[in-house]
Amino acid sequence: MVFKVGIIGFGKIAQDQHLPAIRSNPNFELTAVASQRGLTPDEAKHTFTDYREMLREVPDLDAVAICTPPQVRHAIARDVLEAGKHVLLEKPPAATLSELEDLRRIAGEMGKVVFTTWHAQYNRGVDVARDTLAGRTVRRLLVTWKEDVRHWHPGQQWIWQAGGFGVFDPGINALSIVTKIMPQPVFIKQSVLQFPENRDAPIAASLKLSTGTEGADLQAVFDWRQTGPQTWDIEVDCEGGPLLKLSHGGRRLEVDGSLVVEEGDDEYPEIYRRFETLLASGRVEVDDAPFRLAADAFMIGRRVQVEAFDDDPAQGGH
Ligand code: NAP
Repeated sequence: MVFKVGIIGFGKIAQDQHLPAIRSNPNFELTAVASQRGLTPDEAKHTFTDYREMLREVPDLDAVAICTPPQVRHAIARDVLEAGKHVLLEKPPAATLSELEDLRRIAGEMGKVVFTTWHAQYNRGVDVARDTLAGRTVRRLLVTWKEDVRHWHPGQQWIWQAGGFGVFDPGINALSIVTKIMPQPVFIKQSVLQFPENRDAPIAASLKLSTGTEGADLQAVFDWRQTGPQTWDIEVDCEGGPLLKLSHGGRRLEVDGSLVVEEGDDEYPEIYRRFETLLASGRVEVDDAPFRLAADAFMIGRRVQVEAFDDDPAQGGH
């Protein structure tokens, strides 16, 4: 079966990843796009500036990928589910946990699929790490997620607004790997959030985590001010070994210093293969574990004000 899919929000991730992933999968057809700016790829038969019009005018649409900023995702996803369409949610899946719970409920009532995508989880290195860690006791976890916001989010203002998640926009990718590979549930015990004085979202965060194992040292550091080489690493040390190092956001895995997995980027094609399976079976897949950790980090976070940050160097920024 070929699923007719629509995209809402034709920004960076829709163009860079969703479009090629849909193009490369013969079981999906991009039928419609709703873009406020009126952007559209050639193959979309229908384009709209208002997604509600898309839902009314294209009744044979099976599913919709919502690629907007998270602040508006819940209201849009509700409308899409209530119009009887399946939903794929970009990460983070909503702005709050209650909104996500509401989408899970509506999907159940409507008999539709809702799928929370956590793209970093779709790396084979992550699966191998999870299998290697199963049943072990973790003594040390160090997550280092440091990147250059100017490079990865050029001109995006929503990430700096409340509900835009700030450095947790990439940091939640690390948390989505942590929740997938750790053999025990993980909790946030301490959180320090650095807010630039001119922004409503953090530019850096340091977290202390716990699984309840006494003496274990579990930490995560996120920073958006890293220029030069970018770091997306997770090290895990177990009692009695082994020592794992996931790097390149999960694409490379070393176990006790030996390279076990090194692969290219296949995250979004994998997401659409998973979506296909869910659509065929009608199963809802809502993984809220990474989202809960991010929410907890904000809930118990100590706020520290740091110097103003301007992402446009031409306007006198850093
Ligand atoms: P973006 O480039 O700013 O694109 C988001 C698009 O959503 C906008 O271009 C706009 O497109 C639409 N939009 C903006 N405000 C809207 C509103 N109020 N109502 C409806 N539509 C609105 O951002 P992005 O980087 O693609 O990120 C979108 C989501 O994907 C985020 O949740 C992000 O975490 C996730 N993501 C991003 C990346 C990445 O590398 N950038 C990677 C993985 C996941 P139109 O004008 O076409 O409507």
